[in-house]
Amino acid sequence: MAGPELTRPTGRERARMVEHDLAGRGVTDRRVLDAMAAVPREAFVPTPHELLAYEDRPLPIGSGQTISQPLIVALMLQAAAPAPHERLLDVGTGSGYAAAVASLLVAHVFSIERHAELAEEAADRLRHMGYRNVTVRVGDGTLGWPEAAPFDAIVVAAGSPEVPAPLIEQLAPGGRLIVPVGPRSDQRLFRYVRDFGGRVSRDDLGPVAFVPLIGAYGWSRGE
Ligand code: SAM
Repeated sequence: MAGPELTRPTGRERARMVEHDLAGRGVTDRRVLDAMAAVPREAFVPTPHELLAYEDRPLPIGSGQTISQPLIVALMLQAAAPAPHERLLDVGTGSGYAAAVASLLVAHVFSIERHAELAEEAADRLRHMGYRNVTVRVGDGTLGWPEAAPFDAIVVAAGSPEVPAPLIEQLAPGGRLIVPVGPRSDQRLFRYVRDFGGRVSRDDLGPVAFVPLIGAYGWSRGE
């Protein structure tokens, strides 16, 4: 028997995803929900997967990487509590989807990706789609982006064995760092906050499973 027929996703499916998969599962920040409702996820996944764009799950984007699950993108941005005048560092550009959503929430997004091919594709895609306040570059995001620091918010879309020290250092006073930390296959999502006196506190937002963050302050390639 044939399965359900898949058709090209529409704005209606995006709205359903926002209400059912996001608002129904812990995303309460209206700005984040509106940003998720405004970005067409199907434009960020390779053609064979665009029909699945509004399923709440990661999808392959090439170079062995994935576009993150929409719920996780929304929960991480909500945890980062971005304000319209702020600057956000996005580590792990991947397809550029999370950077596009973040660009609707802050003044400027700096997005860094270690795979040159993914970074170039994402930069082209974001430019063509009119996301003008995103700068993408190729590099090791565990080192942060010293020339553009400090950041009000940093969101890391890959799991690290320990929190990368440069990212803590590049947090502005009042800044928030959202980062998965732990073993290679499953991590805890942590939020680090630098207060205005320079002290850094941490809270645990729960279990997550991300691809590895590979770099000087993350996993080494062969590990
Ligand atoms: N946010 C992305 C999106 O919306 O498509 C998904 C990110 S994917 C889950 C994680 C990305 O982190 C991969 O593209 C991977 O190549 C990248 N990555 C891993 N280690 C990195 C590092 N040290 N610096 C920058 N990017 C890294």
